[in-house]
Amino acid sequence: MGSMSAEEIVRLSKQYTLFEWSAQAAINPIPMTKAEGVFFWDANGKRYFDFNSQLMCTNIGHQDKRVIKAIKDQADTLCYANPYMATEVRAKLGQKLAELAPGDLKKVFFTNGGAEANENAIKIAKMVTKRSKVIARFRSYHGGTSGAASLTGDPRRWAAEPGIPGVIRVLDPYSYRCPFCGGGPSCNGCVDKHLKYLEDVVMYEGGHNIAAIIMETVTGTNGILIPPEGYLKGVREICDKNGIMMILDEVMAGFGRTGKMFACEHWGVVPDMMTVAKGLTSAYLPLGAVLIKDKIARHFEDNVFYGGLTYNSHPMGLAAALACIDVYEQDKLVENAAKLGKVLAKKLNELKDKHPSIGDVRSIGLFSIVELVKDRKTREGLAPFNGHSQPMNDLRKALLDNGIYTFVRWNNFFVNPPLCITEEQLLEGLAIVDKCLEITDRAVAKS
Ligand code: PLP
Repeated sequence: MGSMSAEEIVRLSKQYTLFEWSAQAAINPIPMTKAEGVFFWDANGKRYFDFNSQLMCTNIGHQDKRVIKAIKDQADTLCYANPYMATEVRAKLGQKLAELAPGDLKKVFFTNGGAEANENAIKIAKMVTKRSKVIARFRSYHGGTSGAASLTGDPRRWAAEPGIPGVIRVLDPYSYRCPFCGGGPSCNGCVDKHLKYLEDVVMYEGGHNIAAIIMETVTGTNGILIPPEGYLKGVREICDKNGIMMILDEVMAGFGRTGKMFACEHWGVVPDMMTVAKGLTSAYLPLGAVLIKDKIARHFEDNVFYGGLTYNSHPMGLAAALACIDVYEQDKLVENAAKLGKVLAKKLNELKDKHPSIGDVRSIGLFSIVELVKDRKTREGLAPFNGHSQPMNDLRKALLDNGIYTFVRWNNFFVNPPLCITEEQLLEGLAIVDKCLEITDRAVAKS
Protein backbone atom coordinates (compact mmCIF):
# COMPACT_ATOMS: atom_id res chain seq x y z
CA MET A 1 0.00 0.00 0.00
CA GLY A 2 2.60 2.52 1.13
CA SER A 3 5.24 3.87 -1.23
CA MET A 4 7.95 4.79 1.27
CA SER A 5 10.87 2.63 2.28
CA ALA A 6 11.36 1.65 5.92
CA GLU A 7 14.28 4.05 6.12
CA GLU A 8 12.24 7.01 4.72
CA ILE A 9 9.33 6.38 7.07
CA VAL A 10 11.62 6.48 10.09
CA ARG A 11 13.78 9.36 8.88
CA LEU A 12 10.89 11.69 7.98
CA SER A 13 8.83 10.75 11.05
CA LYS A 14 11.82 11.60 13.23
CA GLN A 15 12.69 14.75 11.28
CA TYR A 16 9.24 16.31 11.36
CA THR A 17 7.42 14.88 14.37
CA LEU A 18 8.11 14.70 18.07
CA PHE A 19 8.02 11.27 19.73
CA GLU A 20 6.72 11.10 23.27
CA TRP A 21 8.56 10.64 26.58
CA SER A 22 11.92 10.31 24.83
CA ALA A 23 15.10 12.10 23.93
CA GLN A 24 14.61 12.08 20.18
CA ALA A 25 18.15 11.08 19.27
CA ALA A 26 17.91 7.96 21.37
CA ILE A 27 14.88 6.39 19.72
CA ASN A 28 14.61 3.97 16.86
CA PRO A 29 10.92 3.60 16.00
CA ILE A 30 9.60 0.56 14.17
CA PRO A 31 8.14 1.56 10.79
CA MET A 32 4.84 -0.24 11.35
CA THR A 33 2.81 -0.85 8.22
CA LYS A 34 0.15 -3.45 8.88
CA ALA A 35 -1.35 -5.60 11.59
CA GLU A 36 -3.71 -8.52 12.07
CA GLY A 37 -4.93 -10.14 15.27
CA VAL A 38 -1.97 -10.49 17.66
CA PHE A 39 0.65 -9.60 15.04
CA PHE A 40 1.98 -6.53 13.29
CA TRP A 41 4.53 -6.07 10.52
CA ASP A 42 7.18 -3.49 9.73
CA ALA A 43 7.98 -1.98 6.35
CA ASN A 44 10.63 -4.63 5.77
CA GLY A 45 8.01 -7.35 6.12
CA LYS A 46 9.23 -8.48 9.54
CA ARG A 47 6.45 -9.90 11.75
CA TYR A 48 6.16 -9.15 15.47
CA PHE A 49 4.05 -10.69 18.18
CA ASP A 50 2.30 -7.71 19.74
CA PHE A 51 2.92 -8.72 23.35
CA ASN A 52 1.86 -5.31 24.63
CA SER A 53 -1.30 -4.74 22.57
CA GLN A 54 0.58 -1.65 21.33
CA LEU A 55 0.15 0.58 24.42
CA MET A 56 -1.93 -1.93 26.42
CA CYS A 57 -4.89 -0.83 24.34
CA THR A 58 -5.58 -2.98 21.27
CA ASN A 59 -7.49 -5.41 23.49
CA ILE A 60 -9.61 -7.08 20.78
CA GLY A 61 -6.57 -7.46 18.50
CA HIS A 62 -5.67 -5.66 15.32
CA GLN A 63 -7.82 -4.91 12.27
CA ASP A 64 -11.04 -6.59 13.32
CA LYS A 65 -13.28 -6.39 10.25
CA ARG A 66 -16.43 -5.86 12.31
CA VAL A 67 -15.10 -2.73 13.98
CA ILE A 68 -13.67 -1.42 10.72
CA LYS A 69 -17.05 -1.88 9.04
CA ALA A 70 -18.84 -0.06 11.87
CA ILE A 71 -16.40 2.85 11.54
CA LYS A 72 -16.90 2.97 7.77
CA ASP A 73 -20.69 2.79 8.13
CA GLN A 74 -20.65 5.61 10.67
CA ALA A 75 -18.45 7.70 8.36
CA ASP A 76 -20.96 7.18 5.57
CA THR A 77 -23.85 8.16 7.85
CA LEU A 78 -22.54 10.99 10.03
CA CYS A 79 -18.89 11.83 10.68
CA TYR A 80 -19.49 14.52 13.25
CA ALA A 81 -22.22 16.04 15.37
CA ASN A 82 -21.45 18.72 17.90
CA PRO A 83 -21.71 17.68 21.53
CA TYR A 84 -25.02 19.46 22.07
CA MET A 85 -26.63 17.06 19.57
CA ALA A 86 -28.22 13.75 20.48
CA THR A 87 -27.24 10.96 18.09
CA GLU A 88 -28.28 7.35 17.71
CA VAL A 89 -24.79 6.06 18.40
CA ARG A 90 -24.58 8.23 21.54
CA ALA A 91 -27.91 6.89 22.75
CA LYS A 92 -26.87 3.29 22.12
CA LEU A 93 -23.39 3.45 23.62
CA GLY A 94 -24.54 5.42 26.68
CA GLN A 95 -27.16 2.77 27.38
CA LYS A 96 -24.73 -0.09 26.72
CA LEU A 97 -22.10 1.29 29.11
CA ALA A 98 -24.73 1.79 31.81
CA GLU A 99 -25.65 -1.89 31.40
CA LEU A 100 -22.05 -3.09 31.50
CA ALA A 101 -20.69 -0.92 34.30
CA PRO A 102 -20.79 -2.22 37.85
CA GLY A 103 -23.27 -0.85 40.39
CA ASP A 104 -25.01 2.40 39.68
CA LEU A 105 -22.45 3.95 37.33
CA LYS A 106 -25.25 4.92 34.99
CA LYS A 107 -24.16 8.20 33.41
CA VAL A 108 -21.24 8.75 31.05
CA PHE A 109 -19.24 11.74 29.90
CA PHE A 110 -17.20 11.05 26.76
CA THR A 111 -13.70 12.43 26.19
CA ASN A 112 -10.91 11.94 23.67
CA GLY A 113 -8.80 9.70 25.87
CA GLY A 114 -7.75 8.68 29.36
CA ALA A 115 -6.08 11.89 30.52
CA GLU A 116 -9.14 13.97 29.71
CA ALA A 117 -11.34 11.42 31.45
CA ASN A 118 -9.30 11.86 34.64
CA GLU A 119 -9.25 15.66 34.26
CA ASN A 120 -13.03 15.64 34.09
CA ALA A 121 -13.47 13.15 36.90
CA ILE A 122 -11.57 15.31 39.37
CA LYS A 123 -13.34 18.40 38.10
CA ILE A 124 -16.69 16.71 38.73
CA ALA A 125 -15.55 15.65 42.21
CA LYS A 126 -14.52 19.22 43.00
CA MET A 127 -17.76 20.70 41.61
CA VAL A 128 -19.97 18.30 43.53
CA THR A 129 -18.12 18.27 46.86
CA LYS A 130 -16.97 21.90 46.70
CA ARG A 131 -13.62 20.69 48.05
CA SER A 132 -10.22 21.23 46.49
CA LYS A 133 -7.78 18.45 47.40
CA VAL A 134 -7.22 15.11 45.69
CA ILE A 135 -5.29 12.13 47.02
CA ALA A 136 -3.39 10.06 44.45
CA ARG A 137 -0.57 7.52 44.67
CA PHE A 138 3.12 7.54 43.80
CA ARG A 139 3.20 4.46 41.60
CA SER A 140 0.63 5.72 39.14
CA TYR A 141 0.08 7.21 35.73
CA HIS A 142 -3.09 9.13 35.00
CA GLY A 143 -2.21 10.96 31.78
CA GLY A 144 0.00 13.61 30.23
CA THR A 145 -2.17 16.75 30.50
CA SER A 146 -1.49 19.18 33.30
CA GLY A 147 -4.04 17.98 35.86
CA ALA A 148 -3.67 14.29 35.02
CA ALA A 149 0.12 14.62 35.11
CA SER A 150 -0.17 16.20 38.56
CA LEU A 151 -2.20 13.23 39.76
CA THR A 152 0.44 10.93 38.30
CA GLY A 153 3.07 9.74 40.73
CA ASP A 154 5.73 8.44 38.38
CA PRO A 155 8.49 10.58 36.86
CA ARG A 156 6.30 11.60 33.94
CA ARG A 157 4.88 14.09 36.46
CA TRP A 158 8.15 15.92 37.03
CA ALA A 159 8.14 18.10 33.91
CA ALA A 160 4.59 19.28 34.72
CA GLU A 161 5.49 20.42 38.22
CA PRO A 162 4.60 22.33 40.30
CA GLY A 163 1.37 21.14 38.65
CA ILE A 164 -2.15 21.75 39.83
CA PRO A 165 -2.56 22.60 43.51
CA GLY A 166 -4.09 20.31 46.08
CA VAL A 167 -2.71 16.92 45.01
CA ILE A 168 -1.43 14.75 47.86
CA ARG A 169 0.31 11.48 47.08
CA VAL A 170 0.45 8.35 49.22
CA LEU A 171 2.45 5.14 48.88
CA ASP A 172 0.99 2.08 47.19
CA PRO A 173 0.64 -1.50 48.40
CA TYR A 174 3.58 -3.17 46.63
CA SER A 175 4.40 -6.36 48.48
CA TYR A 176 7.63 -7.10 46.61
CA ARG A 177 9.02 -3.76 47.82
CA CYS A 178 6.67 -3.01 50.70
CA PRO A 179 7.22 0.39 52.31
CA PHE A 180 6.09 -0.96 55.69
CA CYS A 181 7.68 -4.38 56.17
CA GLY A 182 10.46 -4.26 53.60
CA GLY A 183 8.65 -6.58 51.25
CA GLY A 184 9.37 -9.94 49.69
CA PRO A 185 7.53 -13.25 49.76
CA SER A 186 6.48 -12.90 53.40
CA CYS A 187 4.59 -9.62 52.82
CA ASN A 188 0.84 -10.10 52.57
CA GLY A 189 0.30 -6.53 51.40
CA CYS A 190 0.30 -4.87 54.86
CA VAL A 191 -3.28 -3.81 54.13
CA ASP A 192 -4.06 -2.61 57.65
CA LYS A 193 -0.95 -0.43 57.72
CA HIS A 194 -1.73 1.08 54.31
CA LEU A 195 -5.28 1.86 55.35
CA LYS A 196 -4.21 3.35 58.69
CA TYR A 197 -1.65 5.48 56.87
CA LEU A 198 -4.27 6.65 54.36
CA GLU A 199 -6.63 7.48 57.20
CA ASP A 200 -3.88 9.47 58.91
CA VAL A 201 -3.23 11.43 55.71
CA VAL A 202 -6.96 12.15 55.39
CA MET A 203 -7.01 13.34 59.02
CA TYR A 204 -3.97 15.60 58.63
CA GLU A 205 -5.21 17.08 55.35
CA GLY A 206 -8.75 17.44 56.74
CA GLY A 207 -11.24 14.96 55.29
CA HIS A 208 -13.65 17.84 54.68
CA ASN A 209 -11.10 19.37 52.27
CA ILE A 210 -10.64 16.27 50.12
CA ALA A 211 -12.77 15.94 47.00
CA ALA A 212 -11.49 12.61 45.74
CA ILE A 213 -9.08 9.72 46.05
CA ILE A 214 -7.96 8.51 42.64
CA MET A 215 -6.16 5.25 41.99
CA GLU A 216 -5.63 2.74 39.23
CA THR A 217 -7.62 -0.35 40.25
CA VAL A 218 -4.65 -2.44 39.15
CA THR A 219 -1.58 -0.27 38.64
CA GLY A 220 -0.43 -0.52 35.04
CA THR A 221 2.87 0.90 33.81
CA ASN A 222 4.11 1.37 37.35
CA GLY A 223 4.27 -2.32 38.01
CA ILE A 224 1.04 -4.35 37.63
CA LEU A 225 0.41 -3.87 41.33
CA ILE A 226 -2.61 -5.94 42.22
CA PRO A 227 -4.42 -4.58 45.28
CA PRO A 228 -4.18 -6.97 48.22
CA GLU A 229 -7.45 -8.41 49.53
CA GLY A 230 -9.32 -5.84 51.61
CA TYR A 231 -7.42 -2.79 50.36
CA LEU A 232 -9.98 -1.37 47.93
CA LYS A 233 -12.86 -2.12 50.30
CA GLY A 234 -10.93 -0.27 53.01
CA VAL A 235 -10.35 2.71 50.73
CA ARG A 236 -14.05 2.68 49.85
CA GLU A 237 -14.90 2.84 53.58
CA ILE A 238 -12.50 5.73 54.22
CA CYS A 239 -14.08 7.60 51.31
CA ASP A 240 -17.61 6.94 52.58
CA LYS A 241 -16.73 7.98 56.11
CA ASN A 242 -15.37 11.30 54.91
CA GLY A 243 -17.66 12.13 51.98
CA ILE A 244 -14.71 11.70 49.59
CA MET A 245 -15.32 10.47 46.05
CA MET A 246 -13.54 7.31 45.04
CA ILE A 247 -12.31 7.47 41.45
CA LEU A 248 -10.94 4.29 39.92
CA ASP A 249 -8.82 4.73 36.82
CA GLU A 250 -9.45 1.71 34.59
CA VAL A 251 -8.01 3.27 31.47
CA MET A 252 -5.58 0.36 31.23
CA ALA A 253 -7.13 -2.26 33.51
CA GLY A 254 -10.67 -2.00 32.14
CA PHE A 255 -12.32 -3.78 29.23
CA GLY A 256 -11.32 -7.33 29.93
CA ARG A 257 -7.60 -6.91 30.47
CA THR A 258 -7.69 -8.50 33.95
CA GLY A 259 -10.15 -11.28 33.08
CA LYS A 260 -13.24 -9.32 34.18
CA MET A 261 -14.88 -6.59 32.15
CA PHE A 262 -13.79 -4.08 34.81
CA ALA A 263 -11.00 -4.78 37.26
CA CYS A 264 -12.94 -3.52 40.30
CA GLU A 265 -15.32 -6.48 39.84
CA HIS A 266 -12.58 -8.75 41.25
CA TRP A 267 -12.97 -7.07 44.63
CA GLY A 268 -16.68 -6.18 44.58
CA VAL A 269 -15.98 -2.47 44.96
CA VAL A 270 -17.94 0.16 43.05
CA PRO A 271 -16.28 3.57 42.79
CA ASP A 272 -18.14 6.87 42.55
CA MET A 273 -16.55 7.43 39.17
CA MET A 274 -14.57 5.19 36.89
CA THR A 275 -12.43 6.41 34.02
CA VAL A 276 -11.88 4.32 30.89
CA ALA A 277 -10.29 4.70 27.44
CA LYS A 278 -7.88 2.37 25.57
CA GLY A 279 -9.88 -0.90 25.49
CA LEU A 280 -13.15 1.03 25.12
CA THR A 281 -12.44 1.24 21.38
CA SER A 282 -9.37 -1.01 21.48
CA ALA A 283 -7.69 2.16 20.17
CA TYR A 284 -9.32 1.85 16.75
CA LEU A 285 -10.28 5.49 17.31
CA PRO A 286 -9.49 7.78 20.25
CA LEU A 287 -12.14 7.76 22.97
CA GLY A 288 -12.27 8.00 26.74
CA ALA A 289 -15.09 8.22 29.23
CA VAL A 290 -15.97 9.00 32.81
CA LEU A 291 -18.62 6.66 34.19
CA ILE A 292 -20.50 8.43 36.94
CA LYS A 293 -22.76 7.23 39.72
CA ASP A 294 -26.38 8.20 39.31
CA LYS A 295 -26.40 10.08 42.57
CA ILE A 296 -23.48 12.27 41.51
CA ALA A 297 -24.83 12.81 38.02
CA ARG A 298 -28.08 14.05 39.56
CA HIS A 299 -26.17 17.04 40.96
CA PHE A 300 -25.97 18.31 37.40
CA GLU A 301 -29.73 18.20 36.85
CA ASP A 302 -30.01 21.66 38.38
CA ASN A 303 -26.38 22.73 38.48
CA VAL A 304 -24.44 23.55 35.33
CA PHE A 305 -21.90 20.94 34.32
CA TYR A 306 -18.94 23.17 33.60
CA GLY A 307 -17.12 20.87 31.22
CA GLY A 308 -16.90 20.40 27.49
CA LEU A 309 -14.89 19.27 24.50
CA THR A 310 -15.47 19.84 20.79
CA TYR A 311 -15.08 16.12 20.28
CA ASN A 312 -17.17 15.00 23.26
CA SER A 313 -19.38 12.12 22.04
CA HIS A 314 -17.70 12.09 18.64
CA PRO A 315 -19.87 9.75 16.55
CA MET A 316 -16.88 8.00 14.96
CA GLY A 317 -15.32 7.08 18.29
CA LEU A 318 -18.66 6.01 19.72
CA ALA A 319 -19.35 3.76 16.73
CA ALA A 320 -15.95 2.12 17.18
CA ALA A 321 -16.66 1.56 20.89
CA LEU A 322 -20.08 0.06 20.27
CA ALA A 323 -18.70 -2.37 17.69
CA CYS A 324 -15.73 -3.17 19.89
CA ILE A 325 -17.98 -4.06 22.84
CA ASP A 326 -19.91 -6.37 20.49
CA VAL A 327 -16.64 -8.11 19.68
CA TYR A 328 -15.78 -8.60 23.38
CA GLU A 329 -19.20 -10.19 23.83
CA GLN A 330 -19.45 -12.24 20.62
CA ASP A 331 -15.94 -13.68 20.91
CA LYS A 332 -16.05 -14.05 24.71
CA LEU A 333 -12.76 -12.19 24.97
CA VAL A 334 -13.09 -11.39 28.66
CA GLU A 335 -13.56 -15.09 29.36
CA ASN A 336 -10.54 -15.84 27.15
CA ALA A 337 -8.44 -13.36 29.14
CA ALA A 338 -9.49 -15.09 32.37
CA LYS A 339 -8.76 -18.55 30.97
CA LEU A 340 -5.44 -17.72 29.35
CA GLY A 341 -4.53 -15.58 32.34
CA LYS A 342 -4.13 -18.83 34.27
CA VAL A 343 -1.83 -20.22 31.58
CA LEU A 344 0.18 -16.99 31.56
CA ALA A 345 0.54 -16.96 35.36
CA LYS A 346 1.70 -20.59 35.40
CA LYS A 347 4.24 -20.00 32.62
CA LEU A 348 5.59 -16.82 34.20
CA ASN A 349 6.11 -18.67 37.46
CA GLU A 350 7.94 -21.43 35.60
CA LEU A 351 10.16 -18.79 34.01
CA LYS A 352 10.82 -17.39 37.47
CA ASP A 353 11.87 -20.82 38.73
CA LYS A 354 14.23 -21.21 35.81
CA HIS A 355 15.81 -17.76 35.42
CA PRO A 356 17.85 -16.29 38.28
CA SER A 357 17.46 -12.78 36.84
CA ILE A 358 13.72 -12.82 37.58
CA GLY A 359 12.90 -11.37 40.98
CA ASP A 360 9.12 -11.28 40.81
CA VAL A 361 6.26 -11.97 38.44
CA ARG A 362 2.80 -10.50 38.87
CA SER A 363 -0.23 -11.08 36.72
CA ILE A 364 -3.99 -10.88 36.63
CA GLY A 365 -5.74 -11.99 33.46
CA LEU A 366 -3.59 -10.99 30.51
CA PHE A 367 -2.02 -8.12 32.44
CA SER A 368 1.46 -9.04 33.64
CA ILE A 369 4.94 -7.92 34.50
CA VAL A 370 8.30 -9.54 35.10
CA GLU A 371 10.71 -7.73 37.42
CA LEU A 372 14.36 -8.41 36.77
CA VAL A 373 16.89 -8.11 39.56
CA LYS A 374 20.65 -8.24 40.00
CA ASP A 375 20.27 -10.32 43.11
CA ARG A 376 17.17 -12.08 44.40
CA LYS A 377 18.21 -11.51 48.00
CA THR A 378 18.74 -7.75 47.85
CA ARG A 379 16.06 -7.34 45.16
CA GLU A 380 18.17 -4.61 43.53
CA GLY A 381 16.69 -3.97 40.10
CA LEU A 382 18.56 -4.87 36.94
CA ALA A 383 18.09 -1.20 36.04
CA PRO A 384 17.54 1.63 38.52
CA PHE A 385 14.19 3.38 39.15
CA ASN A 386 13.50 5.55 36.10
CA GLY A 387 16.73 4.37 34.51
CA HIS A 388 18.28 2.12 31.89
CA SER A 389 20.98 -0.51 31.92
CA GLN A 390 22.90 -2.46 29.34
CA PRO A 391 21.30 -5.82 30.20
CA MET A 392 17.78 -4.36 29.93
CA ASN A 393 18.68 -2.73 26.60
CA ASP A 394 20.12 -6.03 25.41
CA LEU A 395 16.93 -7.83 26.45
CA ARG A 396 14.76 -5.33 24.58
CA LYS A 397 16.89 -5.77 21.46
CA ALA A 398 16.86 -9.57 21.69
CA LEU A 399 13.07 -9.63 22.06
CA LEU A 400 12.63 -7.40 19.01
CA ASP A 401 15.23 -9.30 16.97
CA ASN A 402 13.28 -12.47 17.73
CA GLY A 403 9.94 -10.93 16.81
CA ILE A 404 8.52 -10.05 20.22
CA TYR A 405 7.32 -6.51 20.70
CA THR A 406 6.66 -5.58 24.29
CA PHE A 407 7.12 -2.81 26.81
CA VAL A 408 10.51 -2.89 28.52
CA ARG A 409 10.68 -0.26 31.23
CA TRP A 410 13.37 0.26 33.87
CA ASN A 411 13.97 -3.24 35.33
CA ASN A 412 10.69 -4.66 34.04
CA PHE A 413 9.09 -6.09 30.97
CA PHE A 414 5.40 -6.66 30.39
CA VAL A 415 3.33 -9.38 28.76
CA ASN A 416 -0.03 -7.85 27.81
CA PRO A 417 -1.14 -9.47 24.57
CA PRO A 418 -4.46 -8.81 22.83
CA LEU A 419 -7.27 -10.71 24.53
CA CYS A 420 -7.97 -12.67 21.33
CA ILE A 421 -4.66 -14.52 21.63
CA THR A 422 -4.80 -18.32 21.51
CA GLU A 423 -3.04 -20.60 23.96
CA GLU A 424 -0.75 -21.79 21.19
CA GLN A 425 0.25 -18.23 20.26
CA LEU A 426 0.80 -17.31 23.89
CA LEU A 427 3.06 -20.30 24.47
CA GLU A 428 4.96 -19.68 21.24
CA GLY A 429 5.66 -16.09 22.27
CA LEU A 430 6.63 -17.05 25.81
CA ALA A 431 9.07 -19.66 24.48
CA ILE A 432 10.91 -16.82 22.73
CA VAL A 433 10.85 -14.74 25.92
CA ASP A 434 12.27 -17.75 27.76
CA LYS A 435 15.26 -17.91 25.39
CA CYS A 436 15.88 -14.15 25.55
CA LEU A 437 16.06 -14.26 29.35
CA GLU A 438 19.38 -16.11 29.05
CA ILE A 439 20.81 -12.66 28.32
CA THR A 440 19.70 -11.19 31.63
CA ASP A 441 20.70 -14.39 33.46
CA ARG A 442 24.23 -14.02 32.08
CA ALA A 443 24.34 -10.39 33.24
CA VAL A 444 23.29 -11.46 36.72
CA ALA A 445 25.82 -14.27 36.87
CA LYS A 446 28.51 -11.69 36.04
CA SER A 447 27.48 -9.02 38.54
N1 PLP B 1 -4.64 6.30 33.05
C1 PLP B 1 -3.93 5.17 32.91
C2 PLP B 1 -3.98 4.13 33.97
C3 PLP B 1 -3.14 4.99 31.78
O1 PLP B 1 -2.41 3.87 31.64
C4 PLP B 1 -3.11 6.00 30.78
C5 PLP B 1 -2.30 5.85 29.58
O2 PLP B 1 -1.42 5.04 29.48
C6 PLP B 1 -3.87 7.15 30.98
C7 PLP B 1 -4.63 7.26 32.13
C8 PLP B 1 -3.87 8.24 29.99
O3 PLP B 1 -4.61 7.90 28.86
P1 PLP B 1 -4.41 8.70 27.48
O4 PLP B 1 -3.00 8.43 27.03
O5 PLP B 1 -5.46 8.10 26.60
O6 PLP B 1 -4.65 10.13 27.75
